[in-house]
Amino acid sequence: MKNFIYSIFLLLTLSTSPLRAEVIEKEHPVVILGGGVAALTSAVYLSRAGITPVVITGPLVGGTITQSHNVQNWPGEVSISGLELGDKVRKQAELNGALLQSEMVVSVDFSKRPYIVTTKSIIGSEERLTQYKTQAVIVAMGANPNLLGIPGENDYFSRGVYSCAVCDGWLYKDKTVAIVGGGDSALIEAEYLSNIASKVHILLRRDQFRTVENQRLKAILSNPKIQVHYNTIVQEIKGDKEKVTHLIVQDTQTKRPSELPADALFLAIGAKPNTELFQSQIELDPAGYIVLKKNQQTSLEGVYAIGDVADPEFKQAVSAAGDAAKAAIQAQKYLAAHSATSQKAAPAAAKETEVRKVVEIYSKAQLVKEIKNAQGPIFVDFYSTRCGPCRMFSPLYDEWAQQYGNKITFLKVNADYAADIFHEYQIQAVPTLVIFDQKGNVIRKSSGFNEISEVDKRLSKMKDKVDLMPQDFK
Ligand SMILES: Cc1cc2nc3c(=O)[nH]c(=O)nc-3n(C[C@H](O)[C@H](O)[C@H](O)COP(=O)(O)OP(=O)(O)OC[C@H]3O[C@@H](n4cnc5c(N)ncnc54)[C@H](O)[C@@H]3O)c2cc1C
Repeated sequence: MKNFIYSIFLLLTLSTSPLRAEVIEKEHPVVILGGGVAALTSAVYLSRAGITPVVITGPLVGGTITQSHNVQNWPGEVSISGLELGDKVRKQAELNGALLQSEMVVSVDFSKRPYIVTTKSIIGSEERLTQYKTQAVIVAMGANPNLLGIPGENDYFSRGVYSCAVCDGWLYKDKTVAIVGGGDSALIEAEYLSNIASKVHILLRRDQFRTVENQRLKAILSNPKIQVHYNTIVQEIKGDKEKVTHLIVQDTQTKRPSELPADALFLAIGAKPNTELFQSQIELDPAGYIVLKKNQQTSLEGVYAIGDVADPEFKQAVSAAGDAAKAAIQAQKYLAAHSATSQKAAPAAAKETEVRKVVEIYSKAQLVKEIKNAQGPIFVDFYSTRCGPCRMFSPLYDEWAQQYGNKITFLKVNADYAADIFHEYQIQAVPTLVIFDQKGNVIRKSSGFNEISEVDKRLSKMKDKVDLMPQDFK
């Protein structure tokens, strides 16, 4: 949830800060918008097909699944944390050659070909805009669940308050749960949870359901495990700090509050797809979801939509990944059919894919050796797999490596593998960027976005300098 709130904060910050005009132009055959499971899966498929996609990750690399403590319905993984799952798919995409960019999409122009996607960097020089000219676009920007905005909701989100019964309902076997909502999704979730929990309360604000599925409604009303509370709103979610224990609900007619014991609350009050940028560019349904025409193709040729952004119904990581595979193959076929134009874009893409790798360090001895053999300043990213801001910094770091890899050595150290190195250099926060000279002296230590952004600004200023010296970063 912290990551989620941070992302929202970032979105607000970005959308309110003024845009200045330094615009970098790039050409790529395919640009993928989003950095969740869907986007990264398409990236894996496209890279493996020899088409290097650019992935505009947005604020949350790994996507919404990173908010799940324990995913148990991803094929091949009996149980895996959402963070680890997101990180694995990211790594797979990068290893196959996808170019991840720590940028936000700020506008798109699909009125003519090549399509234009304009992005703004998330970390680093805030003013940096990039305009991607592309033949094909895959939209994978997800959807945000609607929240109640009541006390206790943030405190217990993912620890008793959930937005997906199929994902987290299994935690409440033989327990009492409540669902808030009065539409079909509330009914579907209630039916699902009634097979797991001992008691399911449905709380709806009105005196009837907003449903078209009368058969299902009848079945639910006659299910002895399910109790419907009409004219009821949730005012507060209460717990013992570790878990939810009960809800404060209010009868909207008598205005009388009461306590309802419950071990969990499932929100079935809809979600908002991230599609504002696409209004008037591609067809959206009345709720804002992208309308699909043929498999994952949208109303526009060469523009595909995958995952939650085009899925009002299922919203599962595995279905998002399935969409992603289809869209990647569709995009590939589309590019092949339009090879005259896509080949024009290819050389620029090829130039950018001379990827300079960031070397992962596993031991002190390896670090010493790398520093000794290095040319120019040595940058080391101290990070942790579990840290959201680290995942956001990682694509920018990779971008630095691509851009300055012939003048600077780029290394990274994971807290999970090399705690001793963290200890030795007294790293107390992640991400921390440490800049060394070839003698192993620490020239600069930067933690947090503001300090790291300062390094990014220095790099931008010195981009044309032939030799970079460690002292340039002091
Ligand atoms: C708490 C929780 C638990 C869940 N548990 C499970 C589970 O156990 N199993 C399961 O199958 N599913 C689960 N889900 C659902 C699953 O997470 C989603 O269905 C899945 O992540 C959708 O993937 P996506 O790639 O379509 O979208 P998301 O994962 O939401 O990714 C959207 C991406 O778009 C990016 N973005 C947003 N705006 C912009 C912008 N302007 N520019 C660029 N990028 C942008 C974001 O940074 C993000 O990377 C859970 C969801 C939640 C909230």
